Amino acid sequence: MLRKYCVLLTLSVMVGLCALDQRQLATAQTKADLLRGEYGRYSANSDLLYYHLDVRVDPEKKTISGKNTIRFKMLKDDDRIQLDLHSALAVDKILLGQTELKYERDSGAVFVDFPETLKAGREVSIDFYYSGTPQQKGRFGGFTFGKDPKGRPWIYTSCEGQGASIWWPNKDQWRDKVDSMDISVSIPNGLVDISNGKFVGKKDLGDGYTRWDWHVSYPINNYCVSLNIGAYEHFSDKLDDLDLDFYALPEDLDKAKKQFAQAKGMLKAFQHYFGDYPFKKDGYKLIQVPYSGMEHQSAVTYGNGFKNGYLGRDWTGVGISMRFDFIIIHESGHEWFGNSVSAADRSDMWIHEGWTTYLESLYVEYHWGKADALKYLNGYKSKVKNSQPIIPKRGINANPPADQYFKGALFINTLRSVVNDDERWWKLLRGLYDRFKYQAIMTEDIVDFFNKQTGKDLTPMFDQYLRHAALPVLELKFDDDKGEVAYRWKADEKGFAMPIKVGTPESWQIITPTAEWQTLKTPLAKDQFRVATDLYYVVVSKL
Ligand SMILES: [Zn+2]
Repeated sequence: MLRKYCVLLTLSVMVGLCALDQRQLATAQTKADLLRGEYGRYSANSDLLYYHLDVRVDPEKKTISGKNTIRFKMLKDDDRIQLDLHSALAVDKILLGQTELKYERDSGAVFVDFPETLKAGREVSIDFYYSGTPQQKGRFGGFTFGKDPKGRPWIYTSCEGQGASIWWPNKDQWRDKVDSMDISVSIPNGLVDISNGKFVGKKDLGDGYTRWDWHVSYPINNYCVSLNIGAYEHFSDKLDDLDLDFYALPEDLDKAKKQFAQAKGMLKAFQHYFGDYPFKKDGYKLIQVPYSGMEHQSAVTYGNGFKNGYLGRDWTGVGISMRFDFIIIHESGHEWFGNSVSAADRSDMWIHEGWTTYLESLYVEYHWGKADALKYLNGYKSKVKNSQPIIPKRGINANPPADQYFKGALFINTLRSVVNDDERWWKLLRGLYDRFKYQAIMTEDIVDFFNKQTGKDLTPMFDQYLRHAALPVLELKFDDDKGEVAYRWKADEKGFAMPIKVGTPESWQIITPTAEWQTLKTPLAKDQFRVATDLYYVVVSKL
């Protein structure tokens, strides 16, 4: 399914919190990145409809083999499309019906040629057969043939940074999602596979292998498609009519039952702000893995050690993070922002990470109130670098900096303060989500939404926070004799004129500085005159 997008000139790599741990990876773009990121002619000429990924995983030989059935609709007349498969894996054959198609490989891209021009509007289904040993890359592995602490196979995928084509053939980009998908995973008898979607059933293949079938009823990002193979035990619960399914290693079952109970409070909080869990027909699953965690759609993976905080630490350092399991809250928050509302290009990934980090604070607000939420969010300031813009170049599969998380969330909180009306803010959040759910969008779509809904021109504000490295500086110049303070914004965006609360917390006064000096009468001396920096993420310079 190809979703709308606006402007789109250009273009950007990474991972769920995922990204936090992989952000150190080299940022130099390879040819494979460029081919995957540009969304060129042979990507843009078709619209994905459906995948059936059907694979056999051999833990002994460490191989994967099988096929992906790819159904798409041509958007333009053409005789070639681009798909992607990592060069470490072999293309065995690509079939259109019984006809074997020619193809050409160029680093990670596979250009598939058709014997005749496919007319726009035509729906085509091809079977892409492949095999090999996927590369294990990055901290979360891409595709990992591992063992659990008892020595049993533990095989899992987490490939947002590397791209799904590290282990299966697909149109590996963010803009175009399939509408639905089937996933079939054949594994040795006795092991369990948990993938995305609803469990359909399993079939003993009679050769020592069992096939596990899963059906995804919604659009899904390629990198969210996952398999988790292990000696899992299962337990389940319900939240109203939503199925909750949990999977943990046998020896961790008791700890999991205790810790995973937090999923309900998470779902209640996010459903309160954004409405129903987005993937109801697929259910919500939480699956133990050995890495910290990832937002695999409807099959969130969890490796936070059954402890609160992030890996047992007070994540934002202000005494609030230890009240909940950061990975359950953050990775599941991505079901709304990341999986349902998605970015169309990796460059705009703050739509996943900034928003989900902000959702953490909504979880805190729902359970413990606004003051604690603000405190939690402001704890993130210590992690912000302000050294490069949150949105990097588009169309090259470029990886945004970690500021997309922390500064992204602090920016959204600043936007709330500009709206300055919580009832309205809740409606805006819900409206934004409803407007863009199940779509792949760009930052411009969000800016347009807020501009239209608020009747304000918020573009300079979005641009200052997302497209420049530096924070806006509020310059204040005091004249005690006159009882005046002069104020102006020093910012990269010329039209930046964000209103802000100043004075004292008991009686904040809203001023609207611009790039020009304005003055305000105040009885407050320089050291008494305050700026609401917990509500607005800015630098204050008292001259
Ligand atoms: Zn994340």
